[in-house]
Amino acid sequence: MKAIQVIRTGGPEVLELTELPTPTPGPGQVLLKVGAVGLNFADILNVAGEYLTRPKLPMIPGMEFAGTIEALGEGVSGLQKGQLVAALAGTGGFAEYAAVSARAVLPVPQNLSAVEAAALPVSYYTAYFSLRTQARAKPGEWVLVQAAAGALGTASIQMAKAMNLKVIALASSEAKLELCHHLGAAVTLLNTREDLVDAVREATGGQGVDVLLEVVGGPGFAASLKMLAYGGRLLVIGSASREMAQFHPVVLMKGNQSVMGVWLTPFVSDPQLMQEATTFMTPLLASGQVKPVVGERFSLEDAGKAFEFVMSRKNTGKVIIEP
Ligand code: NDP
Repeated sequence: MKAIQVIRTGGPEVLELTELPTPTPGPGQVLLKVGAVGLNFADILNVAGEYLTRPKLPMIPGMEFAGTIEALGEGVSGLQKGQLVAALAGTGGFAEYAAVSARAVLPVPQNLSAVEAAALPVSYYTAYFSLRTQARAKPGEWVLVQAAAGALGTASIQMAKAMNLKVIALASSEAKLELCHHLGAAVTLLNTREDLVDAVREATGGQGVDVLLEVVGGPGFAASLKMLAYGGRLLVIGSASREMAQFHPVVLMKGNQSVMGVWLTPFVSDPQLMQEATTFMTPLLASGQVKPVVGERFSLEDAGKAFEFVMSRKNTGKVIIEP
């Protein structure tokens, strides 16, 4: 089968198109014919060796994908050959076939295509766990979404709306803000504005936001803290700037505010939390109220171009790679 293999960490140049044996599903695994792979910022960090965990090399990147079940390993029940499913597997998606644990398989509502299903797992489950599990956001609260036209950003707007939250969306261009507005953001602001803190405070009647989804980090982190309302929760979800943020925790005291981390991986290994998130999302997806925003689509051969596209901040929604 065709696959992209990484034998040393680095940028898009280390993605090597190669021919590898098609895997056989072991006990508890299923073999998927991969139809589409969602490209996440985390894949880029993982290939660069800058992710939260070190990659085991050689590696086939691709943490989320969708495809049809080609074969079932010993002991797998409740899944059928030919069924379209998604997978949250950590690695292995950049290939024509992938053998994954049945526990990594997620159901796909019938109205979604493979491409839409591949855009779903990482962004929508992260948005759910950020807003509901970590921030405990309540209806009517203000949520600020950074990089709001991106993969996680568009998912966060949609999930926040479904939870009856009011969204302030930040992004780097008017075209991106237009998409955020279309998805239901109440307020859209260019993240390049010098008066951004004041603009956010003004939009919230001087209060600030109750929940802030921080995905950029770096020097802008100090401004994010200033946008928080009394009792506000800032969630550290990512650091797309790849720069260090520093702050003095004492600044949180006066407003009874919190800064907390979010990482999807540990949530994924909690079946009860995953079930809770799936139960929330399934009717929204089935009714079309929530619909993954699919961006540019690239072939496996052009995986490097897909990396460059996301790194240069050109994407809206989820970039897809189709093996
Ligand atoms: P996106 O599709 O959102 O792409 C990244 C976006 O970040 C860009 O489009 C850009 O938006 C913004 N950005 C700001 N500064 C930079 C920079 N210096 N270089 C590149 N992009 C920059 O990616 P994802 O949805 O995949 O991920 C968004 C963030 O969320 C990442 O930090 C990622 O690591 C994190 N994440 C974390 C998870 C977790 O479990 N903690 C799970 C999923 C994502 P703009 O041009 O509008 O500023």
